[in-house]
Parts: sequence; C-alpha cells; structure tokens
Amino acid sequence: MKQYSNRLNKLGTETAFKVSESASEFIKSGKVIYPYHLGDLNIPTPENIIEAAKKALHEGKTGYVSPSGIPRLRKIISEVVGFERQIIYEPKNVVIQPGGKPVIAKFIQAIMNPGDGVLYPNPGYPIYESQIEFNGGIPLPYEFIPTSDGFMLDREKLESMIDNRTRILIYNNFQNPTGCESDIEEMEWLSEIANKYNLWVLSDEAYFNIRYSGKSKSIASFPGMKERTVILYTFSKTFSMTGWRLGAAIGPSSLMKIFEKLSVNDESCTNHFVQCAGIEALEGPQKYQKFITDKLKNRRNLLSEMLNAIHGVKVIVPDTTFYLYPDITELYHCVDARSYEDFRTIILQKTGVSFCTREHFGKPNKIETRKYIRLAYSGISIKDISLSMNVLKDFFSKSLSSSMV
Ligand code: PLP
Repeated sequence: MKQYSNRLNKLGTETAFKVSESASEFIKSGKVIYPYHLGDLNIPTPENIIEAAKKALHEGKTGYVSPSGIPRLRKIISEVVGFERQIIYEPKNVVIQPGGKPVIAKFIQAIMNPGDGVLYPNPGYPIYESQIEFNGGIPLPYEFIPTSDGFMLDREKLESMIDNRTRILIYNNFQNPTGCESDIEEMEWLSEIANKYNLWVLSDEAYFNIRYSGKSKSIASFPGMKERTVILYTFSKTFSMTGWRLGAAIGPSSLMKIFEKLSVNDESCTNHFVQCAGIEALEGPQKYQKFITDKLKNRRNLLSEMLNAIHGVKVIVPDTTFYLYPDITELYHCVDARSYEDFRTIILQKTGVSFCTREHFGKPNKIETRKYIRLAYSGISIKDISLSMNVLKDFFSKSLSSSMV
C-alpha cells in the first residue's frame, strides 16, 4: 500500500462541505432538502460584474499578471478598505488572492514557526485550526460565553493561555458560526492584549459588509494595530462571488512582500479577468450590494421569528453575517440524540432540514452544556424558510409530546 505524508494526519477540512456531501446523497434518494448547511449564496452575482469579466475575457485578459495583483485593483482595494475602516492604506499594503481563504494559510506560513502558539476562536471557522496544526503550530482555541444578546469572549481564559511562545491571534469579528460581533469595548481589550503580548493578528473580515444595521469596525483601526494586523478581505459574500475566487490580504508592506513570494509559489497569480470584475464590483454602481443585504435581512427576520416560535429553540438575531446559531439543547435531548452527528442526521432524515452543528466549528469544551446548530440562510428562499420551519416545528412538537408520554 502506498503511503502519503505524515503531515496529512494534521490537516483538517471545511466541515460544511462534508455536510453538503451528505445532503447531496439525501437528494439523490429523491427527497426534498432545505439547505442551511453551506455559507454560499443563491443570489446571482450582480450583472455589471459579470459583464466586466466578459469584457475582460474578450479583451484577452487571460494571461499571467503580477503575483501581487493588478495595480488598479490593489489601489481601489486600499482606498475602499481604508475608507470603510478609517485606516490609511496604500497599494503596497494589498496583495490580491484567489479568495479570502488563502490568506489564512499564507499568514500562518509567513509568521508562525513550528511550536509557536496561535489563539483562534472556538467555535470558529475550521480552517484556522487545520492550518495551524498542519504547519506544526500549537492550537490555542479561545472560547465565548453566551450573553442575553450574543456571545462575549472569555477574557480571563484567553489571557491565561498566552505564554512566551504565543505569536498569533486570529480574530473573526462578524463571526462564523455565531453571527455575533464584539462591542467596541471588547475590541479595545483585545487590541490591548495584542499590543501587550506583541502578537500578530489575522483579522478575518469576510463578513464586514454583510450588515443589517449599525456600522462595522475593524480591529486594525485601534492604536498600535495597523502594524501588526493582516486583514482577510474577500469579494465572496459581499458581492455574491463565492465561486469567482477573489480576495486580498491587507497589511504591513514588508509582510505583503512575503505574501507575494508565497503567491508566486502557490498560484503564480489570481486570474486577470476576475480581477477586472473585482474593479467593477468596487468602482461600479453599489445598488446591488443593498439588494443582496435587503434580501438576506428579510430571510434573517423570518427565520429567526419562526425559530423562536419553536418550543425549545432560542436564537438571538445578530446584525451581521448570514448565520443564525440557535440554542437547541431541549430538542437535542427530546429526540434522544447520542451525539451532534446523530442529531443532525435524525433531523435531516425526518424533515429534510440540513445544517451544521456546533461540532463542525471545533471541539466543544467539556463544561459546555448548551447545544447549538448553525443555520446559513444565504442559500435558501423565503418560501423554503417558511416551509422548512413549519416542518421542523411539527416534527419537534410531535417529538416533545411523545417524549413526555
Ligand atoms: N473566513 C470565514 C469566516 C468564512 O466563513 C469564509 C467562508 O465561508 C472564508 C473566510 C473564506 O471565504 P472565501 O475563501 O470564499 O473568500
């Protein structure tokens, strides 16, 4: 039998894609499915962006370009991202990437030595842990405490994990999976911690622009942070461009030179015509962005209302992302689930509702007693939200009454 590298034992995966596979199997057997598992959008990319890509293709923009990206896109990203975050960036602070995800691995490769400690959120986007472990780092998952309107960092625990080998803090405000965000005071505290312990920060801002009220703020804008922070920027969610693969790393220019070198090694460059589409996304009419967030907001409102109407479900309604993270502890026990995976499969088979669970975003802490699932409402219509929540409500009310007999 042929052997693969030992390092592969440490490589994780994006668990939502795994759930997609199980949902596809379910569909193949002819059953109806209500897809809440993947953070993808069923809203088309705005027409002006598609036209810009077509034009670029017809103009022959199909060859290699600079590994750091085409100058005009780097410039417009530095301006837009700087303006939205009240930070001054220049094009040399921007390296274009094929999506936001590659920023995670490149950041870790550029900063972390084997044996260095990396703080990252748990629950959180699973690629952080995967890349930390794959590259020989020490994973330091930090936790959250549920509050009446979201989740807050367990500050004491977070700080207690830091020692002289800790080099990196990964921070995903506008969080996947909880949909929640830090208040200003929490961001201030975290930036003080980064300064105090001289940490590099990866600020994953994939959902910075998916906002229904209020205003997003970046940790990079706090004192002393610009020099130690790399922003993960992506077109995926804001412009409904998940499959186009376009994003950027934004940070100190000396570090961006290293990102450029890593890009030469990994992918040579990001597609030229896709970068032209990115210019149109940022420079062209912005009305579609509002169209996308309005659509998502309607879904969020209906889904949260219908979830909260199910006996045994409690969900807070976040102002950002397109995720809801309901507490389903009572239902978990009422269907006699032996594990999260058991719960997920029972609900999928009985109702067709497909979602990820808490466990897809990191190992729950031993003292974590509440149970959660994550519902992405980015890929499901209002009509299907309504149908699916009625099916779910029915199923749970029957399960609850039979569990009381
Ligand atoms: N970061 C977070 C928190 C995400 O949820 C995602 C995608 O779901 C990404 C990064 C990567 O996005 P992309 O590579 O599509 O830009």
